[in-house]
Amino acid sequence: MHTVAERLVVVGGGLAGCEAAWQAAQCGVPVILYEMRPARSSPAHATDRLAELVCSNSFGARATDRALGLLKEELRQLGSLIIAAAEASALPAGGALAVDRDRFAAAVTAAIESHPRIELRREEVVALPSGPTIIATGPLTSDALADALTQLTGAEHLHFFDAMAPIVAVETVNTAIAFRASRYGRGEQADGDYLNCPMTEAEYDRFREALLAAETTPVRDFEREDRRFFEACLPIEVLAARGREALLYGPLRPVGLTDPRTGRRPFAVVQLRQDNQAATLYNLVGFQTNLRWPEQARVLRLIPGLERAEFVRFGQMHRNTFVNSPRLLDASLRLRAADDRRRAPLWLAGQITGTEGYVGSTLSGLVAGLNAVCHLRRLPPLALPATTLSGALLRYIVTADPESFQPMKANFGLLPPLETPVRHKRERYQAYARRALADLEPVLAAVRGLRRATERRAAE
Ligand SMILES: Cc1cc2nc3c(=O)[nH]c(=O)nc-3n(C[C@H](O)[C@H](O)[C@H](O)COP(=O)(O)OP(=O)(O)OC[C@H]3O[C@@H](n4cnc5c(N)ncnc54)[C@H](O)[C@@H]3O)c2cc1C
Repeated sequence: MHTVAERLVVVGGGLAGCEAAWQAAQCGVPVILYEMRPARSSPAHATDRLAELVCSNSFGARATDRALGLLKEELRQLGSLIIAAAEASALPAGGALAVDRDRFAAAVTAAIESHPRIELRREEVVALPSGPTIIATGPLTSDALADALTQLTGAEHLHFFDAMAPIVAVETVNTAIAFRASRYGRGEQADGDYLNCPMTEAEYDRFREALLAAETTPVRDFEREDRRFFEACLPIEVLAARGREALLYGPLRPVGLTDPRTGRRPFAVVQLRQDNQAATLYNLVGFQTNLRWPEQARVLRLIPGLERAEFVRFGQMHRNTFVNSPRLLDASLRLRAADDRRRAPLWLAGQITGTEGYVGSTLSGLVAGLNAVCHLRRLPPLALPATTLSGALLRYIVTADPESFQPMKANFGLLPPLETPVRHKRERYQAYARRALADLEPVLAAVRGLRRATERRAAE
């Protein structure tokens, strides 16, 4: 018999919330899952189904030598409801896992509704529940709950807009051109904290013209209301349109930097800043943008030093509620400050934690659900190795620089380098996948143990 304290509340019946509820219920924990639709909808959802896909119907590549393919395989092996439902409603889509969105959402809804340990309540949650709770209300969390989260975490830790700069894999930056330095020689590393891409006047003018001519993504109606967030963090192309000098006094300012190849200050400089602990990823400082992704690839490769850059994330700006995970969450996705004020643990899951995209959101849902089970059973949280893509992505969102934290998609740049370097990209990615799946084994055994304990209890 379960005590009330063993009951888990999950708020949000999207990809993360359904996955979290399912995982906890499969381990024997009774769950109350709240979903506000259909009584109250979000600006992007159109149905009353759980796990509605608000945009694309693709979960990305299947092959494990692609980052999303490997993350899906890890999730499949961990027993993900969402990945199983996606496989069961797959459509022909070449190398991608694309789904019939209606069949997919219907399958998840049926699985949740028929689970004996899940009670589905169709209500908006407007205040933080008092017992152990997982919040998985997504990028369009309702205003009332966002206010409640703000009160708990502090306004400065809840963001309502993505302003993401593109990120490059550092191994693809041409260091014959890009040089290491910090402005005026300040910084922590002796050779400089930044990689700097210098531009001549002609290169700057060519780049600015390309920026101005490039195609941008349209802003949706519900995002237009939030335009006020743009002023604080202008897209690079909007800044460029303010005049020839605007970028030179903004993110491309060259002051305090000397190009060691010429011994002089360049006309303009694009700075790249380290983005992960492993120093494999660098972001383009101040380059948040609304350019279409293929346009970003074309225009940003005009920057000297980035001719062959591989972008692991493109810049984006859109409505997105997410918390400052590096400041607020521990490695188990539990809110650090929660105990004192709520006297009950609170986990966050899904896009609200900064695990971007359908598959990333599913991952944080699965892990929050299983970690809630571990907590209720007084067991240590799951230890996902940093060499698995699951472990690497979650580690990123709780250890990234809190000052510039933005959501992150799964990518191979998050993984620690291989012990024996592999030169060719495809073979390197295959080696990452082999290492990740081998290192996942102990976690699979731990998760099997959590589920077996339920079967034993049921048999007793
Ligand atoms: C416009 C838009 C387009 C996107 N397109 C893509 C894409 O093409 N591919 C991709 O990978 N990702 C896309 N994303 C990101 C996408 O939202 C996430 O990948 C994924 O849906 C996040 O899962 P989640 O469970 O965190 O949130 P969601 O799937 O949004 O689920 C959150 C759920 O919580 C409910 N909810 C909210 N507040 C409350 C409350 N107070 N009480 C009860 N229930 C509540 C919502 O109704 C919703 O059902 C897009 C996001 C947006 C906003």
